[in-house]
Amino acid sequence: MSEKRVFVFNPGPAALPLPVLQQTQEEMLNFRGTGMSILEVSHRSQEFEEVLNSAVERIKRLLGLDERFHVLFMQGGASLQFAMIPMNCADNKKPVAYVDTGYWATRAIKEAQNIVDDVAVVASSKDKNYIYIPKNIVLEKDFSYLHITANNTIKGTQWWKFPETGNIPLVADMSSDIFSRVFDPNPFGIIYAGAQKNAGPAGVTIAIVREDMLERVPQNLPTMLKYSTFVESNSLYNTPPCFAVYVVELVTRWLEETIGGIAKMEEINNKKARLIYDYIDSQDFYKNPVQPEDRSWMNVIFTLPSLELESSFIKEATQEGLIGLKGHRSVGGCRASLYNAVTLEAVEVLVDFMKEFVRRNG
Ligand code: PMP
Repeated sequence: MSEKRVFVFNPGPAALPLPVLQQTQEEMLNFRGTGMSILEVSHRSQEFEEVLNSAVERIKRLLGLDERFHVLFMQGGASLQFAMIPMNCADNKKPVAYVDTGYWATRAIKEAQNIVDDVAVVASSKDKNYIYIPKNIVLEKDFSYLHITANNTIKGTQWWKFPETGNIPLVADMSSDIFSRVFDPNPFGIIYAGAQKNAGPAGVTIAIVREDMLERVPQNLPTMLKYSTFVESNSLYNTPPCFAVYVVELVTRWLEETIGGIAKMEEINNKKARLIYDYIDSQDFYKNPVQPEDRSWMNVIFTLPSLELESSFIKEATQEGLIGLKGHRSVGGCRASLYNAVTLEAVEVLVDFMKEFVRRNG
């Protein structure tokens, strides 16, 4: 087994902060004096409830959520949220609105179409293969909500200015950029994120639900598919993914206590993104297709002059301990995912490797 840790640029599951992994290891056999592993502790115990409540409080503080917002821990990934949102939040059968910014947004739309009759795609960047974020969206009807994908993990775009929707709640898939930058949560009826990129391990999904959205939940939905079930039981209606919640608590603790909050995290993420985009823009061996003002700070996609060069780039990078740089199978190319736990040092090492690769192959 290798003694050395590598630099993880995986798209998700993804890098976790080293101090979080270390604490997990230290507490593995004896969780805070219980004489048991967190993996063995009852979800009905005071110890576990303290972990869960602390995670909720930390998420609220980090995102500046007031008492109207409920923080829920669910399972089924962001993909189950694609279904739960139209099931729970289509208000009196009013049409629902979506923006199509590629792959995950498209999946969310398809799932809504399975559930609601009237799904309006009010804007799309499909005409240019999703290399930009649609602007100036006008909502001409009274929609139940407007769904957007805040960061497009595969296409490498990110919303830097959210659409203005008046009284229509925004619903956002923040799977790949939650906790990465400061934003005003107030226009959002629902924010959701699979934890496995910026918030923790796979297995838990964070859903943040504003109180007024609960009024819409139909009574006849299956119990486990109702947001209200999770609100009423503090996410403890059934056995939650305890270990994953525990790691989310450690990640949010790290964000608050080591990083110093989301504004600080955003500064670091900005530095990381600038380093790699500035380099990409300074030469023409690597190319990023995204419209510059819509570039993602989380997922930096780039191509090389040929498929052969891409495959040797990925192979040699892996040998150097730079892991996870292959683009999504649907788009090819390369992708560096620079989530919160990816350090500035990791990005420096990556950019140095990119330069070195050009010297040998350019
Ligand atoms: N939305 C986005 C933006 C994603 O990046 C992903 C996962 N890569 C998903 C949804 C799907 O998440 P899950 O695997 O948790 O269902």
